Amino acid sequence: MPGKGGAAGGIRTPDPIITNDVLYQLSYCGAGLRGHHSRPEWAAKVRSAAALGKPRLAARTLARPAVDCHKLKAMLSPSRPFVLIDRDGTLNVEVNYLSRPDDLALIPGAGPALARLQAAGYGVVVVTNQSGLARGYFTPADLEAVHARLGELLAAHGVRLDAIEVCPHGPDDDCDCRKPRPGMVLRAAARLGFDPGAAIVIGDKPADIGLGRAVGARTILVRTGYGAETEAAGIAHPDAPDAIVDDLPAAIELILAGGPTPEPRR
Ligand SMILES: [Mg+2]
Ligand SMILES: [Zn+2]
Repeated sequence: MPGKGGAAGGIRTPDPIITNDVLYQLSYCGAGLRGHHSRPEWAAKVRSAAALGKPRLAARTLARPAVDCHKLKAMLSPSRPFVLIDRDGTLNVEVNYLSRPDDLALIPGAGPALARLQAAGYGVVVVTNQSGLARGYFTPADLEAVHARLGELLAAHGVRLDAIEVCPHGPDDDCDCRKPRPGMVLRAAARLGFDPGAAIVIGDKPADIGLGRAVGARTILVRTGYGAETEAAGIAHPDAPDAIVDDLPAAIELILAGGPTPEPRR
C-alpha cells in the first residue's frame, strides 16, 4: 500500500483521471472520520463521486502537499445546513460576563425551537466571544461548568449542539477568531464539513452580523440581549442583517419557513 505522500505524489498534475492511489487516499481519509463515514461507505461515496465527475476536484486537492481530509469530506459528502448561534443574549439571557452555571437561563422557547430545527436536519453550532477569559474574570473551568449546564438545559429538550466554538481572547489580542472575525466558523466548518456560505448566523450584536457577512452567511438579528439596542443604533447597508426578529424561536421559525432572503448586495 502506498503511503500518504507517495500516493499524492503520483498526481502532481491536475489530471482528472482517478487512480487506485487516489481511491486509496480517499479511503485513508475516510478511515479517520467518525460516524457514518466508515471506510467501506466512504469508498462507495468516492466511486459514486467518480461517476459524477467530482474526482477532478478531488484529484486537484490530493495533488497539494498535504491531504486535507476535512475538505474532501465537505466536497464529497452531502452537507447538512448549519445554523450558527451566538450565546449570550441570543441563546441564553444576557448576563454581564456570565461565569456561574446557576446564572444561566435559556431564552424562553429556545429549547423547543432548537429541537424543531435539529429535527429538520440542521446542524447547530454556538459561536461565542468570551473575553472574560482573557480579562481574568473567570477561568476555563468556570466556562466549562457553564457549558455543561447549557448542555443539560438543552438536553432536557432533546437538543444536542454540534459544537460550541469559543474565542477566549480580548479585543487587543488581534486573534483571528474574535467575532466579527471568521476563525471560529472556519474552524467548525472544517471540522464538521459544512459550507459557511450556506449557513445562517443568529445574534444580537453587530459583531454577530459582521461574522455572518465575513463568511458569506445569511444573518438574523434578534432583539433579545443587546439586539434592541443594535437595531436602534442601526447597521448600514450592505452590512445590515438579512432579517430582524424578536428572539431565537422567531429566528428559527423564519429559517424553517425558508427565510431569510438575503438582501441584494453589490
Ligand atoms: Mg450576544
Ligand atoms: Zn480569538
